[in-house]
This record gives sequence, C-alpha cells and structure tokens, in this order.
Amino acid sequence: MPSRRQFLLGSTALAGSVLAGAWRPVAAAPTAEGSFLPADFTVAVPDLAPERIVRRLVGLRPFRPMGVRLEAEAIGRTTLIHHYGHGGSGVTLSWGTARQAVDLALAAPGRGAVAVLGGGAVGLATAWLLRERGRPVRLYADRFSPHTTSDVAAARWFPSQLVDPAFRSPELDASLRQALLFSHQRFRRLVGRGYGVALLPHLRLGSQPPSPGWADTLLADLIPPPQDVSDRGLPFQAAWVGATPGLLIDMPQYLLAMQRDLRRLGVELVQRRFEAPGEIAVLPESVVVNCTGLGSAALFGDNELVPVKGQLTMLPPDPRLRYTLSAGSLYLHPRSEGLLLGGTYVHGDPTTTFDSEAETEILKGFAELYAMPGSALG
Ligand SMILES: Cc1cc2nc3c(=O)[nH]c(=O)nc-3n(C[C@H](O)[C@H](O)[C@H](O)COP(=O)(O)OP(=O)(O)OC[C@H]3O[C@@H](n4cnc5c(N)ncnc54)[C@H](O)[C@@H]3O)c2cc1C
Repeated sequence: MPSRRQFLLGSTALAGSVLAGAWRPVAAAPTAEGSFLPADFTVAVPDLAPERIVRRLVGLRPFRPMGVRLEAEAIGRTTLIHHYGHGGSGVTLSWGTARQAVDLALAAPGRGAVAVLGGGAVGLATAWLLRERGRPVRLYADRFSPHTTSDVAAARWFPSQLVDPAFRSPELDASLRQALLFSHQRFRRLVGRGYGVALLPHLRLGSQPPSPGWADTLLADLIPPPQDVSDRGLPFQAAWVGATPGLLIDMPQYLLAMQRDLRRLGVELVQRRFEAPGEIAVLPESVVVNCTGLGSAALFGDNELVPVKGQLTMLPPDPRLRYTLSAGSLYLHPRSEGLLLGGTYVHGDPTTTFDSEAETEILKGFAELYAMPGSALG
C-alpha cells in the first residue's frame, strides 16, 4: 500500500492526475452576449421509437425523510460511522458527505486500518478520502459495479429526493451546502480524465420560468440561474426553455474507474455480505464506515429508510446529443452505453419490476416535448 507521503505526492498515475487538478467554477466563460451556450448551439432530436429500446433499468433510491445519517455508534469495541440514506442524490453528494463521514472516522481512537461497508458511489468516495488522509482501507460489499443502485443512477449532478421539507433547517442547509460544494469540486476535477464525468449544458423546459426551488438556493453559489434561451429556435414544444451549465456522470464508467484506482491505492475490495451488526463487531478493523445505502434497513433495522423506486428506459447511444434535459419530472441524459429516459419516483415501493405503463407515459411526454409527429402536440 503506498504511504501517505507517496499518496499525497501523487505516486500513482491516478493520484498525480486527479489530486493535481485545480478547481475551477463549473460555469464556462460567458460569451460576448452573456451566454455560456455558444450562439451555434443546436439540439439534436432523439429517435424515441419504442422498438429501439435496448435496455430497462430499475433502482431503489435510499431515502430518509430527515436526510443522510451521519453519526457514530459503538458496537462492542468497534466504532461504527453511519453514512447512508442519500435518496436521489447519492452520486451528487457522495464526495461531500464522505468528507464529513471521514472526519467522524478519524476522530475515533486508533490509527489502524478502517473498513468501509458498501461499494456504491458513497462507499467508494469514502474509501478514497480515507486513503487520501493516510489510513489503510479495506472495502467490503455484497455487490460491486455493475450490480449496485449507483450503477442505475442517471447521475446528473444535482440534488433531488434528499430530505422531506418538514426536516429542513438552517443547520441542515449549511451542512448540505458545504457537502455539495466539496463534492462538486471533486467531480469537476474528474472532467475529461477518463472517469466518465462531462460538462454538458442542462436544458430545463416549462410553461414559464420556474421560481428557484430549495435545491437551486442551496446551489446558488455554484450554478447560475437558468439563462432564458426560449428565443433560440430550439426544437421544443415549450413556452420557456432555460439553460444552465451542468455535470453528468456516466456511472458504469465512473464506478469502474473508481474501483480500479482504489485497488491501485492499495485498497482491498472484498465481496462479503453482512447479515447482522455482530459480524461487523468482529472485523479486524476497529473503525467501520457503513455505506450500505438501502441495505441499512435490514442490517441495522433503520425503519426510517424508504425505497423510492425509479426506472430508466435506454435507447441506443446518440453521440449528437450533447445536453441533458428536464421538464417537470421527466429527464433525458446521454450515457456512453445509451440514452436514458426517466422520470418515475414511487415512494415506499420495494419491488424492482419494470412498469411498462409508466414507460409509455414517459415516451409520450418526450414525444410531446420534441413536437414529434404523432404526439398530442406534434
Ligand atoms: C432511476 C434512478 C435515477 C437516479 N438518478 C440520480 C441522479 O441523477 N443523481 C444522483 O445523485 N443520484 C441519483 N440516483 C440515486 C442514487 O442512485 C443513490 O442515491 C445512490 O446510488 C446511493 O449510493 P450508495 O452508495 O449509498 O448505495 P448503493 O449504490 O446501493 O451501494 C450500496 C452498497 O452497499 C452494499 N450492501 C448493502 N447491504 C449490504 C450488506 N448487508 N452487506 C454487505 N454489503 C451490503 C451493496 O452491495 C452496495 O455495494 C438515482 C437513482 C435511481 C434509482
């Protein structure tokens, strides 16, 4: 395992490339007319014919009404740091809450190896930051990519389905702002470095400019308000079109790159399922960070965790399509393996069966947005 000094000096190709990346704000420099979108920006219209569908994915977002659980608990002589419950924001927040979890882990007694439970976006970022802070790490997970919920995430960098409005507070907002800023910096550094993280404009469609939501206000220092591009002649049936700079994470590519790099940094990835906390208490590591996502419901009896089922329809990749799009709950994200269409959020549904009727509605919704022949508005 590389020493802390070697790591910080960038002894591996990875550390050299990623740690050296300086943070830049996400917004590309505005053009002369004050727009970050080039004047010749065009919108490729996807072919949404149902017979072209290549894949269907279903995932369960690990939602806790009060937000991410970040706290220490003693089980026997082991210090357990809980770090789960990211709802629809686990990728977006992963690096930021990982830093908060790592601070808790490093405050525990001992300087030995730390165990991370969970091989999704949250566990991988946690393992990375622990290594970066000089601790040996072993990562245990029942499943790794491509078999985690994180692989399903459509993964535009934006928080959603994170906290029930009843639990919002100035303290929570401040903590989330800090986590989002750090996470954004980390993803921003990975752009163009083979991690599947790309800068892409985000187009938001509606009948009128939206008033800023809770997430927009949390991100006010990072993402500028949408720029009105309704008069650009873009091929949409929408009275209002706004554009913001955005980040998109191609999850299968990102997770594989993270796993590869963690191994290079000396982290052992161990396939293992835990059935009870007692199995964790006897691990050789005396500090354990629990990043098991929805798995924490069964493993630790967390009744606050609620699955929020979501599904994605994948069409063949379309390299012409260089934007993400949202309209109400509908969204479209280009991934290297295909074009993802989504927009379902079913609270409390623990099943992973695909809903064909919902898919038909989503396809119809997009056909109307793009004003395609045969659609209600086309
Ligand atoms: C359709 C859809 C779209 C989404 N879009 C976005 C998006 O655009 N942006 C965004 O930020 N998020 C999005 N999400 C949410 C995101 O997928 C989750 O928040 C995120 O994957 C949670 O990551 P995690 O690492 O906590 O959990 P997971 O990815 O589920 O990883 C949990 C890990 O813990 C392991 N584990 C669980 N139980 C045990 C056990 N008992 N023993 C051993 N190991 C165990 C698992 O095997 C796995 O390795 C979306 C989700 C869905 C379903």
